[in-house]
Amino acid sequence: MSVVANLLAAMRIRWRVRIPAALWPEFEHYIQRQHRPFLLLTNIVAAFAFFSYVLADALLIPDMASASLLVRSVLLLIALFNIWLVFGRSRNVLLMDQLMPVHDLIATLAWFELLKRSHSPDVPTFLYASLIFIVFANLGVRVSFKGAVVSSLAISLAIISNVALMNPHNSKPLLVFSLVYLPVLLFCLFMSWNTTTSVRLAFYAAQEQRRRKHELSLLNQRLHTLASTDALTRVGNRRAFDVQLEEFWLQMRQHGRPFALLLVDIDYFKPYNDHYGHQAGDHILADVASAMVSCLRSGQARAFRYGGEEFAILLQSGSQEELQHIAQRLLQQVAALEVTHQYRPDGMQHLTISLGAALSSIAGLQQASDLLACCDRMLYRAKQLGRNQAQLADTSVAWQAESIPV
Ligand code: GH3
Ligand code: MG
Ligand code: MG
Repeated sequence: MSVVANLLAAMRIRWRVRIPAALWPEFEHYIQRQHRPFLLLTNIVAAFAFFSYVLADALLIPDMASASLLVRSVLLLIALFNIWLVFGRSRNVLLMDQLMPVHDLIATLAWFELLKRSHSPDVPTFLYASLIFIVFANLGVRVSFKGAVVSSLAISLAIISNVALMNPHNSKPLLVFSLVYLPVLLFCLFMSWNTTTSVRLAFYAAQEQRRRKHELSLLNQRLHTLASTDALTRVGNRRAFDVQLEEFWLQMRQHGRPFALLLVDIDYFKPYNDHYGHQAGDHILADVASAMVSCLRSGQARAFRYGGEEFAILLQSGSQEELQHIAQRLLQQVAALEVTHQYRPDGMQHLTISLGAALSSIAGLQQASDLLACCDRMLYRAKQLGRNQAQLADTSVAWQAESIPV
């Protein structure tokens, strides 16, 4: 046995491919998806093929012609009804797999009853047609090799015992028949084994392919997040901002969905860095970013690091009041961090931000970069007017590069 096992291993052939119980529901689903149409068609074709032998019966056992027509018609109807039950109602893959062998066994028994009752001289020759039953029993097997073995043995028993019964006083016909029959049986079982293991290996390959696809999509997601996130502050980076701004602009153009942009700059950050050190400055950048994110409703607004100590916020709103409200909340939230900054030239003692903001619906804006330029101008104005404040572009004045006084 170990020699056979080693030989199979060397040939990279697996004797048995097991499907653990936990995987069975998925395996059933796979069979339904991949093999149900084939199994259904094979059962229908086999049922009609069995019926078509009514012609051979009429020629070779003419004394049984009408009985054959009756038996085959009844069995055809039963088969079609069972096919409808198993494939249309139960959808159990084991039943689908073993339906044909079960029909086959019944058909074998019925056919031998006809043969036994016939007085035709062609009966001994016609007997060999029973080989077709073992072929049919294994033709459609896709799921269970064990099932194929059990049904093949039952059919073989029915065939061999009937051949023996038909030749009670002479063992030679049984011997000759068995010598012809057994290789066919073995070959059919080999085909069933080959098909069922191939189906299982294909199932595992499909599982592996799905797992890899899922892993790849997770990696892609992570890569996308990494490529669009600022490493220090964990908000979107400049690249993500550029993409999102263009997207918002396009959506406004196509669907009339207005939005707003806020540019945020930390006040007197250079002296902060110079006196407290760049590491402390880095921490502050991260704290300011998360303080701002905490007062934005996710889904409605997204923050990005525009560069250095500047942030940009894209807001899905066309309301000047809401824009004003959010700008004030951002100012308060950052002030609430209470970061000491004793080296500001204006005498204040804590860290603040300045904001420039504008609605995308302002007249005169031709492209996304105009909105950015407008916010930049408003930010500059906030700085000029004393910092720690928000300046919003006037919605009643059309934007022109030079129209907003600095
Ligand atoms: P203003 O109020 O006019 O904005 O003054 P400011 O000092 O904030 O402006 P300025 O543009 O002169 O300085 C920005 C400073 O931000 C320069 C640099 O030290 C600091 N900065 C930029 N990027 C980083 C960073 O990634 N980490 C740290 N720690 N500091 C940064
Ligand atoms: Mg700046
Ligand atoms: Mg600054």
